[in-house]
Amino acid sequence: MSRFRQRLGAYLLALVFVWGGMSWLFLMWTHLESDGTRLPGKTERHQGDSMLKGEYRIATGREDVDNATVVFRGDLPPEPMPNEPDFDVVRHLFNITRAVTPRRAKETPACLQKERHERIRQQHHRRETEAEGCETGGLCRALLLRRSPQTSIIICFVNEAWSTLLRLIHSIHDNTPPHLVKEVILVDDGSSWDFLGKPLDAYMARFPKVQIVRARKGLGLMVARTLGYNYTTAPFITFLDSHCECFPGWLEPLLTPLATDPKVVTTPCIDSIDKNHFGIGVGPDALVGVVEFPTLQFGWRIAPPRERKRRKSKLEHVRSPAMAGGLFSITREFFDLLGGFDPGMKIWGGENIEMSFKIWMCGGRIETPICSRVGHVFHSHNSYQGLRSGTFEAGDANNARVVEVWMDDYKKYFNHYRRKVRETRYIPGDVSERQKLRERIGCKSFSWYIENVYPEVALPGDGIYSGEIRNEAFPKLCLDMMTSKEGGHPAMFGCHGQRGTQLFDMTDLGEIVSLNRYLARVHGGVLSNQKSNWGSRKHVWDYKDKLIKRHDNCLTLNATLHVVMEKCSGKTSQMWTWNYHRPRRKNVLRIEEM
Ligand code: UDP
Ligand code: MN
Repeated sequence: MSRFRQRLGAYLLALVFVWGGMSWLFLMWTHLESDGTRLPGKTERHQGDSMLKGEYRIATGREDVDNATVVFRGDLPPEPMPNEPDFDVVRHLFNITRAVTPRRAKETPACLQKERHERIRQQHHRRETEAEGCETGGLCRALLLRRSPQTSIIICFVNEAWSTLLRLIHSIHDNTPPHLVKEVILVDDGSSWDFLGKPLDAYMARFPKVQIVRARKGLGLMVARTLGYNYTTAPFITFLDSHCECFPGWLEPLLTPLATDPKVVTTPCIDSIDKNHFGIGVGPDALVGVVEFPTLQFGWRIAPPRERKRRKSKLEHVRSPAMAGGLFSITREFFDLLGGFDPGMKIWGGENIEMSFKIWMCGGRIETPICSRVGHVFHSHNSYQGLRSGTFEAGDANNARVVEVWMDDYKKYFNHYRRKVRETRYIPGDVSERQKLRERIGCKSFSWYIENVYPEVALPGDGIYSGEIRNEAFPKLCLDMMTSKEGGHPAMFGCHGQRGTQLFDMTDLGEIVSLNRYLARVHGGVLSNQKSNWGSRKHVWDYKDKLIKRHDNCLTLNATLHVVMEKCSGKTSQMWTWNYHRPRRKNVLRIEEM
């Protein structure tokens, strides 16, 4: 008995030692990790040979370089603005962030109305509940985060409002674990508003990690971002627009995937901040970013069946064929490999599509961790006027560069669009450097991208069935979408051979599309055109034995020459022909196959 007691005592003692030892190790480890200075060489190790120390400037003072003036941290004493709002009061009123002030003077009284606060408060509450399951706790998570390398944050701005810019910086300050951020580089891309000069320098001096780089003249978004990038020193890079609000827990999920796979590019879920009252509208989770053809415009959809099947839980990240482009994290290693932004692109637009294509085609992927949420003010581009004339022309020229460099023989689908719609704006300029870059990295083909990343695409002219849709009973008449305005009704029209509203493509999902509007069945056998969200069975069709049908109902040209849905009987007025046909893509999953 006493021997047993002795042994028990020894066991307990040993247990205490082991436990004590482990706790000590754990504490040491986390302590070391949280304090970068205790682990010299760690970042260098991660960054690899391409990131030799000394290659990047250390911030110590003010300097003038070729095309920019740089204000370094510590350069100015923090001074409150003479008319600086009392942020505690504002925050209390709005119950949201430390940095909201009305954008325009005339908004002040309205902003302070009680009812409006209540609405914003409720929206916040909703946002928080919606993020359920995203809590940052948990030992494993905490450990993982401590091990994450740091990010530099790059924010370009041009004539940004004081309130929105401060809202962003304060939200980063408040809602980001400090050890994850090496520096915040603010790039002033040639703003003309006075308060964005000295007053901003003075205000930002209170944030030791914020550094301001000023372009001498407007460089355009892509070149400005590259300028900012040249001042970054961390292994990860995070880009943000200048009118965002980062919500708690926004950064951690963006960085953790990068730590294990340097070719992942992460983008947050973007909530919209209202441009008038600055309240937050919570966007649906798990939206997928897409690019529309031939406009190369970016858009959002709900996840296609293939992606819905791939995701095992509501909290699993979403993969997107394209990203909005303003907000993302990327490893320095991958950013460098991809050749950063195209310096031949001007002002705004197209760079997100270039990034998206090359990320996928050159071995990476775009993922949105569900728990990372950042608000963004979707504004009109009026504030650029005068300062940035020609923004939209520049966007088209930038898109032309994307087509020339990345789209291989898919370029042919742009011929018509190019000729008819934007002839004068399709000016890619010299793209030889970018073509060489693509060759050097050895990226996959554009058809690989379509086949594997974006097989649900509606690319005008490239459908399973494509061309005009003629009715056998009236072969001179073509189905015509009539209008691209949503909710319009398709009708029959003399065939004109000019494509446009008479060019129809059936996608691999079974949707029938013309000019980005989708043929949809609405009540009472009526047809209309709608936007696609990849989720609606009303948009899915079968084409077999010349019948365009859904279950037992067929597209029919009735006695009054209206296009309607009727029971299938196989009569000639239900028979339709298309010009072209190709096999269905292997990787696509239709709704009924889920
Ligand atoms: N921007 C810039 N230089 C430009 C145009 C835009 O630095 O020539 C900045 C702008 O201030 C913003 C970001 O780039 O922070 C993205 O522009 P914007 O918000 O207009 O794009 P959107 O979100 O509307 O697509
Ligand atoms: Mn923006």
